[in-house]
Amino acid sequence: MTPERLQRLRTVLDRRQPDLTVLLEQVHKPHNFSAILRTCDAVGVLEAHAVLPSKGLPPLPEAEGEAAGSLLSAIGSGKTYSESSGSAAKWMFLQAHPDTASAFKHLRARGFQIYAAHLSETAVDYRTVDYTAPTCVLLGAEKWGVSAEAAEGADAHVAIPMLGMVQSLNVSVAAAVILFEAQRQRLQAGLYDQPRLSPERYQAILETWSQA
Ligand code: SAM
Repeated sequence: MTPERLQRLRTVLDRRQPDLTVLLEQVHKPHNFSAILRTCDAVGVLEAHAVLPSKGLPPLPEAEGEAAGSLLSAIGSGKTYSESSGSAAKWMFLQAHPDTASAFKHLRARGFQIYAAHLSETAVDYRTVDYTAPTCVLLGAEKWGVSAEAAEGADAHVAIPMLGMVQSLNVSVAAAVILFEAQRQRLQAGLYDQPRLSPERYQAILETWSQA
């Protein structure tokens, strides 16, 4: 590894936010899954969580590319770290949960507040909530949206105002809009100014990344 490459890995790791995550609830289209992880990487998210579709994963269209395919396979096999060659998935941790209740239990135990991106009657504008505390942004399935169970269990519903004719955004677009607001708030709060990981964890991840 060149010194420049090592420095690049360090620079990225210095900005990783261990207390900002996403929960993808039955998001099943590989290109959406992949696009969300790409955004997560850009924002500095360290780990992502997923509840897989109950009927299993759909066949992966070849056209979606190796990155998304290998990513979903990794999640489906229950691995917590993707060895995928996909560009974004390589740089974060992925954890699959069997159902929404288990995912919530896991995230709650770690102190995450959960904001469901959900266009409900009680939803507030996504720019009005605080993303500087430990936060999980929950995103719903392409067709059905957030489940009733997840909507009920979330701390708040956040919505991106829709002023046009269509009722909702593509899930990966919604994820990007909300996560970049979280990034904006965290930049302002100085959360990217110094490493957020413990020295031990930082070193362990750096070693893993060095071999990627
Ligand atoms: N018919 C579904 C529904 O009623 O929720 C639409 C699902 S939408 C295509 C997929 C996911 O993207 C949603 O569950 C939500 O998480 C997110 N999403 C899409 N547009 C959104 C918006 N304007 N505000 C917040 N989240 C949005």
